Amino acid sequence: MREKLVITIDGPAGAGKSTVSKVLAGQFSYLYLDTGALYRTFAYKVWKENIAPDDKDRLAELAKRIKIALENENGNLKILCGGKDVTREIRIEQISLLASKISAQPVVREALLSVQRDMGKNGGVIAEGRDTGTVIFPKADYKFFLDADIKERVNRRYKELIARGECVDFSEVKRDILLRDKQDREREVAPLKPAIDAIAIDTTNMTIFDVANTILKIIRVKEAAG
Ligand code: C5P
Repeated sequence: MREKLVITIDGPAGAGKSTVSKVLAGQFSYLYLDTGALYRTFAYKVWKENIAPDDKDRLAELAKRIKIALENENGNLKILCGGKDVTREIRIEQISLLASKISAQPVVREALLSVQRDMGKNGGVIAEGRDTGTVIFPKADYKFFLDADIKERVNRRYKELIARGECVDFSEVKRDILLRDKQDREREVAPLKPAIDAIAIDTTNMTIFDVANTILKIIRVKEAAG
């Protein structure tokens, strides 16, 4: 098997990307690049500073000074913004929606592009998001696109939020996911879509470990075949 591959995992919310990416990063001892965490952290600052999500000038000004760092700590991802630990705060639903809004702005995407490419420049990375296979790492060694039925995706996201102690109801989670899907798929810059050379996996009836094993098997078989 070649060393330091670049592997991208894209797909909509609730498709199982994050958990699968963490498992794969652990298996290969690779860096886990959660690109959604970068958009979420940007959105967190937008919210804290009361910036309108369509205020291009203020977004551009923020893009110049924002300092985001992702640290892998004992297999867990810690997210720092200007040195402050924002790991928990950025996961709330309000931030999910705001991240989806600001991520449609080219100025925000441009600012985060180099950060992401920089983190993957030496390979050995599992990059997870919406455009990692299409825009960030178009020459990735392996690209996967995960998707699942809307009902299953909402179910997973709902359980995740409840487990985190958030007070949400099912229909609200469904509405938010549908809205994010629409915004992410229809935006002009780097919309959510499978790369032409991505391997699509429907995770509806699969466990996370089934998905991770399927991906591992595909990579190992292809690597062994040279
Ligand atoms: O993956 P996650 O749900 O944490 O991402 C939050 C939002 O960030 C997504 O709904 C999407 O709008 C945006 N995002 C993006 N491009 C990425 C990763 C996330 O636009 N590569």
